[in-house]
Amino acid sequence: MHCQSRQSLLKKRSHSYPAMSQLLYLDHNATTPIDSGVYEAMLPWLRNEFGNPSSVYSLGRHAAVALTAARQQVAALVGAEPSEIIFNSCGTEATNTAILSALAIDPDKRHIITSTVEHSATIKLCEYLTTRGYEITWLPVDAEGKLNPEKLEDTITAETAVVSLLWANNETGVLFPVEEIAAISARKKVPLHLDAVQAAGKVPINLESLGAQYVSLSAHKLYAPKGVGALYVNRKARLTPLLRGSQEDTRRGGTQNVASIVAFGKAAELALTALSTAPKHVKKLRDHFEKNLLSTIEGVRLNGSETHRLPNTSNITFPGIDAESALLLFDQEGLCCSAGSACSSGSINPSHVLTAMGVSRDEARASLRFSLGRTTTETDIDLALEIIPRIITKLRSAQPVGGSPVHSLL
Ligand code: PLP
Repeated sequence: MHCQSRQSLLKKRSHSYPAMSQLLYLDHNATTPIDSGVYEAMLPWLRNEFGNPSSVYSLGRHAAVALTAARQQVAALVGAEPSEIIFNSCGTEATNTAILSALAIDPDKRHIITSTVEHSATIKLCEYLTTRGYEITWLPVDAEGKLNPEKLEDTITAETAVVSLLWANNETGVLFPVEEIAAISARKKVPLHLDAVQAAGKVPINLESLGAQYVSLSAHKLYAPKGVGALYVNRKARLTPLLRGSQEDTRRGGTQNVASIVAFGKAAELALTALSTAPKHVKKLRDHFEKNLLSTIEGVRLNGSETHRLPNTSNITFPGIDAESALLLFDQEGLCCSAGSACSSGSINPSHVLTAMGVSRDEARASLRFSLGRTTTETDIDLALEIIPRIITKLRSAQPVGGSPVHSLL
C-alpha cells in the first residue's frame, strides 16, 4: 500500500459489483452487496420456479427441496443441525421470537437480563416489556466495550426467564465471551439467546458445542438480500412461535420467501468457504487502515477492544468534528460509513454503545464506524486514506457561520 495519486487510485478500482466501482463502501455492518453467485442462485426462484413449498405437485416440491438445501447450508455455517434452523423475515424477528418464546414458556418468571450495548431489536423489545411489568437488568460493559461474565452470574435469580446478549457488537465489533456466557446460563438453567447477526460469517461459530437455546441470524449481513433471517432453536429447547401457521414445522407461520432463503443458503455456503481466508485478509486491511488514521490524524482514538473484536470493524473518534457532517462530505466522494443511529428527525443521535462505554456524548458525536467486507481491496483502503484525513482537516478548520458546520461546507 503506497502513497498514490487520487486519480491513479480511482482508475485502479474496477469492481466485480457494478455499483461498487463508484462507491467506496465501508459499511458492511449496515448491510452487504448481494454476491453475484448468490444473485445467480436466487434468479430461478423469482421466475419459473415460483411454486409454494407446501404444494404437493412437482413445482411445489422443487421449492421444498430448495428450502431443505438452504437449511443445510445455513446450519453448516453455524455448526447446527438443519432441523434447528427456522427461516423467518429478519434478525429482528428472530430476536423478538426468541425472547418472547422464553417468556411464554415460563410465564411466572418476569426477569430478563441483557446488556446496555445491544442492537435496537433487543433494546426496543425489552423497553416495551418493562411497560408490561417485566424487570430488565441491563448489564454494563467496560471502557473497551467488554462484558464481564461474572456480572451475569451475579445477576441471575430464580425469577430470570431469559438471558439475551450479543455475540458481536454491530458498532464496535467487540465480541462478548459467549462460551462463558453459555456455561453460566447452562449452570443456572436459564435459557440463553445470542444475537449472532454480526458474527455469522465473520468469525467461526459452532452451536453444537456452545449449547445456547436460541441464536439470531440475518442474511443481509452475509451478501444475501434483506428481509430474510433465521432463528436457531436448539433441538432440546422449546419454542413458542411468534407467528402461528403450518410452515416451518408449525414453528413460524407464513409461506416461505423461497428465493431469498435460497440466496441465504448460497451466501452461507460461500461465507463458510471464505472463513478460512477472508477474516485474515480483512483484518490486515482494517489494521493498516486504523494504524494509518491513528498515526496521521491528531487526537484520533479507537473505540472498543483492540483484540476482542470482529476483524472487519473499526470505530474511531475524530475529536473536533461532527460525524453527521463527515458522513455528508464522505458521501460526496462516494465513501459510505456510519455514525450512531438516525433519529426520527433524520439527524444522528450519539451512539448508545459508545456512551455505555463511557465515551462522552460530544465524543460519540465525533465518532465513525468503518466496516470492511471480503471484497474490500487495498486500493479501496488507499483511497479511503486519501479521503478521510482531507475531510477531517476540512471539518476541523471550518468555522460554522450560522447553521451547522456542514452547511457552510457543502
Ligand atoms: N442484531 C444486530 C447485531 C444487527 O446488527 C442487526 C442489523 O443491523 C440486527 C440484529 C437486525 O437484523 P435485521 O436487519 O435482519 O432485522
